[in-house]
Amino acid sequence: MESKFSFTIKAKENKSRRGIIKTSRGEINTPAFMVVGTAGTVKAVTSEDVKKSGTEIILGNTYHLMLRPGEELISQFNGLHNFMNWQGPILTDSGGFQVMSLSKIRKITDDGVEFSSHIDGKKFFVSPEKSIQIQRALNSDITMIFDECVQYPATYDQAKIAMERSIAWAKRSKNAFEKRDGYGIFGIVQGSTYEDLRKISAQKLIEIGFDGYAIGGLAVGEGQGEMFKVLDYCADYLPQEQPRYLMGVGKPSDIVGAVLRGVDMFDCVIPTRSGRTGQAFVRQGVINIRNAKYREDKNPLDELCNCYACKNHCRSYIHHLVKANEILGAMLLSQHNIFYYQDLMRDIRKAIEEQRFTKFSEEFFNNNQNSEE
Ligand SMILES: [Zn+2]
Repeated sequence: MESKFSFTIKAKENKSRRGIIKTSRGEINTPAFMVVGTAGTVKAVTSEDVKKSGTEIILGNTYHLMLRPGEELISQFNGLHNFMNWQGPILTDSGGFQVMSLSKIRKITDDGVEFSSHIDGKKFFVSPEKSIQIQRALNSDITMIFDECVQYPATYDQAKIAMERSIAWAKRSKNAFEKRDGYGIFGIVQGSTYEDLRKISAQKLIEIGFDGYAIGGLAVGEGQGEMFKVLDYCADYLPQEQPRYLMGVGKPSDIVGAVLRGVDMFDCVIPTRSGRTGQAFVRQGVINIRNAKYREDKNPLDELCNCYACKNHCRSYIHHLVKANEILGAMLLSQHNIFYYQDLMRDIRKAIEEQRFTKFSEEFFNNNQNSEE
């Protein structure tokens, strides 16, 4: 089934949008949460269970996959979908963020980045063209441009130089992208916490023209208040008729607050990473199942959840598994957390459709206070 890549807004409430992205591999209902499958696996969760949670799109990491197992191997399967047996849409990041945060950088030039792998020290070079070529080998449905991410805090000059280089790289990424029906490429707005830089970045990207626009360089330590401040103006600089993706975000409250500010797509490792450290997201907030008070708790993690963990096991058992470092503990918690996130997204979409999302968000911030870190 070949079709054009498209985005349709079905309902709006103030800045919040309820939409549908169409790709050649199926539809994505927005606001959408993309579960992160860093190295070709959503850690500790099978593709079948990811699908059961209501997840419609997952994210793959170009940086991790190019290092191991390498894009040549994955291209023998015609892409990541067949390799990992996930037949829904996949978005791949460009590797820009991981190159800067995980690897040992050798040299950044206008050409690209030379770096050593964090796994074995092997030298690699990634340019915008190379990143797009790898994402093509992975057969990703949504390709991201290769950009330079600055650390937080960044001085105005640092942020400006990286933003300008990212615009040049955005052009080269777009040129290297092979147009195919049902596939899209997204630009990434940079500029740290400087409004004029964010505005210029957005304008230049719109001139180049993309199928969607991501907001990058947030959730890097600036805090929720500062992030919301950037989103307050950032969304206004982006086109109404295309999807907006806030990269690497976030906690449930970050997502609710960002949807209020006009964001349509999210990705984050929090649900799976928290699952591996004993944390569960429940309707009242976050619980830490390691706590002694759960030792004899015969209730499920969350009464309202339909995941396998909640339908079959109680807190007491999962407390035991986690305390004993049993693998099943991480599996049950990770699966549950993904279900929680997708239930939240479904509730958000329904609330926007019914024009009660503002009220929903107020109730969410009032009820979601529990935090056992
Ligand atoms: Zn559950």
